[in-house]
Amino acid sequence: MSTENQATREPADDTLMAHTRYDPASHNGAVNPPVYHASTILFPTLAALRARGTAKVRYGRRGTPTAHTFQDAICDLEHAERVFLAPSGLSAIAVTLMAFAKPGAHFLIADTCYAPVRKFAASILSELNVRVSFFKPDIGRDIATLIEPETALIWMESPGSQTFEVQDVPAIVAVARQVGIATAIDNTWSGGYFFKPLDFGVDISIQAATKYIGGHSDLMLGTIAVKTPDIVTRVAEYVERFGICAGPDDIAMAMRGLRTLGVRMRQHYQSGLAMAKWLAQHDAVRQVLHPALEGTMGHAYWQRDFTGASGLFAFTVAPHAETQLAAMLDNLKYYGMGASWGGFESLLIPIDPFSSRNAHGRTNDDQYFRIHVGLEDVEDLQEDMAAGLARLVSI
Ligand SMILES: *Cc1c(COP(=O)(O)O)cnc(C)c1O
Repeated sequence: MSTENQATREPADDTLMAHTRYDPASHNGAVNPPVYHASTILFPTLAALRARGTAKVRYGRRGTPTAHTFQDAICDLEHAERVFLAPSGLSAIAVTLMAFAKPGAHFLIADTCYAPVRKFAASILSELNVRVSFFKPDIGRDIATLIEPETALIWMESPGSQTFEVQDVPAIVAVARQVGIATAIDNTWSGGYFFKPLDFGVDISIQAATKYIGGHSDLMLGTIAVKTPDIVTRVAEYVERFGICAGPDDIAMAMRGLRTLGVRMRQHYQSGLAMAKWLAQHDAVRQVLHPALEGTMGHAYWQRDFTGASGLFAFTVAPHAETQLAAMLDNLKYYGMGASWGGFESLLIPIDPFSSRNAHGRTNDDQYFRIHVGLEDVEDLQEDMAAGLARLVSI
């Protein structure tokens, strides 16, 4: 091939995730790199020991090639400068919040945040004398009205946990940038595949890699992707001082998940949307809260900023007695009941999204469900759901 004909386009995510940090020549031709289990790293000479501060690999906690490979790959996925790993999504969130938690500071947190974030605010942040105001998911540029002189961080999650409102991230970021406030977002829902917060000026994008990146419901891992240089330095300090790191087997499994992220996410999108539309037509269903459906709060922002939707959304039915809910849920063939999501399998749980909100209350008496549409055949999933909804209303 002549040089003029060589491709100049930036590789798409699917190509990147297949080829990023792909280096068989360094591993005897094996396609995947070995998994390093290491705490002690030995240095061959006194001079090398003295110079270890500049070594890429110097102590297990500071990362081995297993961690570095995955960190670099998440940099490619999230368009980040640096990626830090944590042993769970929640620990990634906690260390990031701590990095801005000076006594007397004020945080703005989305009312639709992952519930443990609210608990972190109520206990640890409150003990540190960090005040938190929760903002409605549709606040957009009106976030300016909540900013105080001490505001140090705006924490977004889009779409929001359990009710799936998409926020006007660019509008919030524009306000934050004007007054020099750092912004962070929980990007777990998109898998980093359908939304690139750092491209929209967000400083920090966090994921529970436990979910879609892992993709098989068998690991715990968090990623903190950062673009802005001074914030890289700040987060690095906290990750290091707290001794945050992740285990090599979980990282290696997450790396395996990353290789198939695109094909899985597209299927979650297609099947999830088909299921959302099917539910919206069903007599027993009152509302379907899916960002790709018109009428869901922030749908226009989803259309503008996202390139797809994952398999996680919510729907509601009329209130029903516990025995009726049990008749529906206890006898499903394909939907599991349990925390977490993002694996290959479908899940369905009843939820009470407004039980802990401050700014964005309940406006109806609906029974809410959170559904994760997995990689099963969608007609099988619909048949099972139809039978479940029939049991719900029939007793
Ligand atoms: C699950 C989840 C987390 C926490 O991840 P863990 O790995 O379970 O600690 C954080 N944010 C969101 C949106 C989640 O769904």
